[in-house]
Amino acid sequence: MLDFTLSEQQIAIQKKAREFALKEVLPVAAYYDELDEIPLTVLKKAFDAGIMNADIPKAYGGQGCGSLETILMVEEISAACPGIATSVFDNSLGMAPIVLSNNEDLKEWFLPEIAGSFKLICFATSEPTLGSDVSGIRCKAEKAGDDFLLTGTKYWITNGGIADYISVFASTDPGKGYGGIGAFLVDMRADGVSTSPPIPKMGQRCSNTAGVNLKKVLVPKDRVIAPPGEGFVLAMKTFARTRPAIGALAVGAARSAMEFAIDYAKKRRAFGSPLSNFQAIQFKLAEMYEKVETARLLTWKAAWAADRGEDPDVPASLAKMYATEACWEVVSEALQIFAGYGYTRMFPVEKLLRDTRLFKIYEGTSEIQRLILSGVVLNAYQPVMPPLEDLPVSRKRDLEAIREAADAGLKVWRCRMCGNLHFGEAPPDECPYCFFPGTAFKDVTPF
Ligand SMILES: Cc1cc2nc3c(=O)[nH]c(=O)nc-3n(C[C@H](O)[C@H](O)[C@H](O)COP(=O)(O)OP(=O)(O)OC[C@H]3O[C@@H](n4cnc5c(N)ncnc54)[C@H](O)[C@@H]3O)c2cc1C
Repeated sequence: MLDFTLSEQQIAIQKKAREFALKEVLPVAAYYDELDEIPLTVLKKAFDAGIMNADIPKAYGGQGCGSLETILMVEEISAACPGIATSVFDNSLGMAPIVLSNNEDLKEWFLPEIAGSFKLICFATSEPTLGSDVSGIRCKAEKAGDDFLLTGTKYWITNGGIADYISVFASTDPGKGYGGIGAFLVDMRADGVSTSPPIPKMGQRCSNTAGVNLKKVLVPKDRVIAPPGEGFVLAMKTFARTRPAIGALAVGAARSAMEFAIDYAKKRRAFGSPLSNFQAIQFKLAEMYEKVETARLLTWKAAWAADRGEDPDVPASLAKMYATEACWEVVSEALQIFAGYGYTRMFPVEKLLRDTRLFKIYEGTSEIQRLILSGVVLNAYQPVMPPLEDLPVSRKRDLEAIREAADAGLKVWRCRMCGNLHFGEAPPDECPYCFFPGTAFKDVTPF
């Protein structure tokens, strides 16, 4: 039976994250947003509370939380500050290539280290010249005996300016597209690594985003996450696993915007009545609720698929695309309900609007999700309905004509172009309705 009930353990995880969000994140969010700075102390507290890194498998010293448990926490932290949430859960993105890799030795020394001490690991496919087109990676990986030397620049790297490690995707042959890409674990203290100042952003100013430059950085062979040729697929598998979390970031932020809007609509009066008495406002709130609930269902489904060991690629894309776009609409409508006050820094909706705009961009833009999903519907999707030209004839007039044709020993021909029927021993030279040639007709004689 399909069951949306959370287990006691999941409810406890959600409660812990909610309490953490209200006590540790919400009170500092606006302050650090204004400072344009990441609150490292909050990240450390999230580590101590077991909220950061909760998805490290038990076999490697972690808590072994599944995708669903993780996104329950993501929703709560994002509800208090999407920027802090992005940085808190960035370790899951940075570590995912290692968790998903075949390099058992690397997992055995690295994952327990991340589980046991407060260390940050970031993730880098993007570069100054590319983001969506991961196959175009220019960062070079040169063979040096059994080891590799990495040279290039990674850009837009969440936690890039503060991390201890980085999972770098680089190519032995940048002209070769997917074929040359590998993944490499780099210690940020290694010779040749430097980072940019934080990139000034519109929103998510509580999250650090930086450029990372690599100049002939030595990666010993035991830190190769995926050899050249296997990195692109690993990056795509990583996104399939982490996109539900972006959906959950969006659900959390949208939920807060909706809650603020409900509160405001009940208190603010216009034309002698609370805003919440106006049907136009009630309908906005209803649609916000509909979007939050639908987005949550899709993110839960994607996480559920991942936890069952299924390939979560398609549900993850659906969840990411729907939840992030729904979130943008919800936050924008919340601001509309706040109207003038919504446009000020005195209320949290303005920050939510700036913070949540990013959701439609990172980890695959909305356009890239559409590319993935249109590929699915056009190629892999298995329809239930027969092709249009094979639909059963059911109009009363057609059925009568078919009976007459049967009596006269004639066949039934359907024009594939306009759908009209013709009766005869052979199809007509051209369709009398759309004038397509006789080759457009299909024999659909049912007797
Ligand atoms: C704050 C922030 C944090 C980030 N964190 C990280 C991180 O930690 N690690 C990391 O690797 N990256 C990170 N990114 C990068 C992010 O993933 C990219 O910005 C994103 O993938 C889009 O790439 P782009 O900005 O280069 O846009 P482009 O790829 O140049 O795309 C530009 C526009 O064209 C559209 N487009 C591109 N190709 C197609 C196509 N084939 N069909 C239709 N439309 C298309 C895009 O959707 C977009 O609208 C971060 C970005 C930001 C802003």
